Amino acid sequence: MKNSIPQKVEAQQRYFSTGQTKDLLFRKDILKKLRNEIEKQEDAICDALYSDFKKPSFETLVAETQFVLAELKMMIKHLDLWAKPERVPSAILNFPSSDWIYKEPYGNILIISPWNYPFQLTLLPLISAIAAGNTAVLKPSELTPQTTAIISKLVSSVCSPEHVLVCEGDAEVAKTLLQQKWDYIFFTGSTRVGKIVYESAARQLTPVTLELGGKSPCVVDETAVPAQAARRIVWGKFLNAGQTCIAPDYILVHHKLKDRLVEELIKSIKAFFGEQPQDSKDLARIISNDHFNRLLGLLENQKILHGGSHNKTDRFIPPTLVDEPSMDSEIMQEEIFGPLLPIISYRDESELQTWINARGKPLAAYIFTKRKSFQKKFIREFSFGGGTINDTLLQISNKKLPFGGVGQSGLGSYHGKRSFDTFSHQKAIVKRATWLDLRFKYPPYNVPLNLI
Ligand code: NAD
Repeated sequence: MKNSIPQKVEAQQRYFSTGQTKDLLFRKDILKKLRNEIEKQEDAICDALYSDFKKPSFETLVAETQFVLAELKMMIKHLDLWAKPERVPSAILNFPSSDWIYKEPYGNILIISPWNYPFQLTLLPLISAIAAGNTAVLKPSELTPQTTAIISKLVSSVCSPEHVLVCEGDAEVAKTLLQQKWDYIFFTGSTRVGKIVYESAARQLTPVTLELGGKSPCVVDETAVPAQAARRIVWGKFLNAGQTCIAPDYILVHHKLKDRLVEELIKSIKAFFGEQPQDSKDLARIISNDHFNRLLGLLENQKILHGGSHNKTDRFIPPTLVDEPSMDSEIMQEEIFGPLLPIISYRDESELQTWINARGKPLAAYIFTKRKSFQKKFIREFSFGGGTINDTLLQISNKKLPFGGVGQSGLGSYHGKRSFDTFSHQKAIVKRATWLDLRFKYPPYNVPLNLI
């Protein structure tokens, strides 16, 4: 595959120049076929994700296939409107004119995706890349081979390889892809690899979207409702076994509420996953041995409040609560991306700045409080991609909200219409009329300067 990449990319470039992908009926037809195929293959997709890392089928349906289908339906419904040239008020100095924004496909798109929501995070950008009239090469993660295989099968049953091509393989394949000429690169993954992608895109001034990660805080103040907050945190944290880019990474809880919150967190963990969480059908496994060992390493020398065991053959780690790790411990330095939840108490709100700002701008932030003034202050004082007040993860569920990071957690945003716009160049066109030609802009300039 690696050696044939340059020829395959050139074939896509030639195909784009035929203009076929710009045809609106063609784009809609492909999107409809993709929708039908996903609907047909939904069970097989669930099976693939289960065999990759025992992702519970309910989570696959809600966060992968149905999520993608909802985006497809929205795109098909609105495509004519979103693709239409948009008229804007004309500038008076250009009178008489009509002014327009034309939506032009960039051309050849590269989409590199991670393993944690491997179906959603590959298909979602693909839908809008196609909808906007582009070709695309997809490079899914090597860590979810079954899901990649089904994506490959699905895509090739709907699109020609000159239009959409799936490149299976690891970082080496991604590196070869990055050496080719692209008109846009859409990358989802770690901040570390995001920097590599950005550097390589910069060489050709290729525009990018970078959907990255970070340490997303979850603040619980003394006015929060402990049982409800605990339920909502446990749900958001342990979905996909904590391997969610916007999962709460750690809790900062007011010291007066800490004991009560911990008690409720443990209650919720037991209620959701039983006394033997390894027997629960609702907990995914850790994606790889490397990640499994990395997570165990993060637990070294930490005080465990709950959980903490592991099973290597099953790559299983139960929901684990870690008590008051120090600020410079490894678990507080890197994105956890697993079922470990540090709990840190604070006495004064000013301490939040120290904890949160020392870790860069996170992809998400959560705050549980009844105090409106604290909600406002938190939104004003901290920079983060997006968040939810009194719950977790829900900012991703509304397609009218932009999804993306800021600073080291990402560049650009997508979902819904923003996705279509992401893959379209906005071309500004002024259409001048010929029936009038006011002369004042032409030399010799005779307009008194005080009239300008
Ligand atoms: P990763 O960065 O290791 O890998 C992502 C993709 O990049 C994979 O396809 C991989 O093959 C490729 N890759 C790896 N090394 C590369 C290199 N040197 N050059 C080019 N490509 C390379 O990320 P991951 O482990 O798959 O996913 C976890 C990370 O992704 C976490 O940091 C998480 O927060 C982040 N993430 C972000 C979002 C978001 O929407 N912002 C969503 C999911 C995951």
